[in-house]
Amino acid sequence: MAKALNQYLGKKLKLIRQDNGWSLDRASSETGVSKAMLGQIERGESSPTIATLWKIAGGFHVSLSQLIEPHPVEDEGVVFRWADNLRHQPASDDMLVAPIFPYDDRYGFEMFELTLLPGYERLSEAHETGVVEHVIVTGGKMDVFVNGEWLELQEGGAVRFAADRPHGYRNLNSGSATFHNLIYYSSKNKTEFG
Ligand code: MN
Repeated sequence: MAKALNQYLGKKLKLIRQDNGWSLDRASSETGVSKAMLGQIERGESSPTIATLWKIAGGFHVSLSQLIEPHPVEDEGVVFRWADNLRHQPASDDMLVAPIFPYDDRYGFEMFELTLLPGYERLSEAHETGVVEHVIVTGGKMDVFVNGEWLELQEGGAVRFAADRPHGYRNLNSGSATFHNLIYYSSKNKTEFG
């Protein structure tokens, strides 16, 4: 699984970088990820963390999901997805990521199922202006960092927040926590994704 992810990511990153006409130097300064690391990722030799994937997505102004896998097959407007078949665990991360509905320009959002293993904590940098996250806890309990404080959410709890400012997720419990995250990209920056 991890190997397939690395290979897809490597090809995709190289393609996106070439589409932008960016050198590795330029890509490094735009994403904040070292040139050496970007080179390793492009060759499929590195298993980047989700934090690194987010930096790459942000620097290139692309959605996270398109770095993970191709668009799902659609049959007459219908797409079936099953999280059990989609979960990836990026390297050295205590987080599992399932891109349930990858970003699609027609709809302007991407939707993930995310699983936080016990002890996971991450503060996320601000996304692009206008990006809004919808977090819905489907199993266990977790904390979400919004407006400068940690908010506890139990199964069934949900929060929507402006994600163009710092935010975060953590699981201080002994069991894992699972949530759906619907990330909406405003129509203003929508066309940059695709
Ligand atoms: Mn975020």
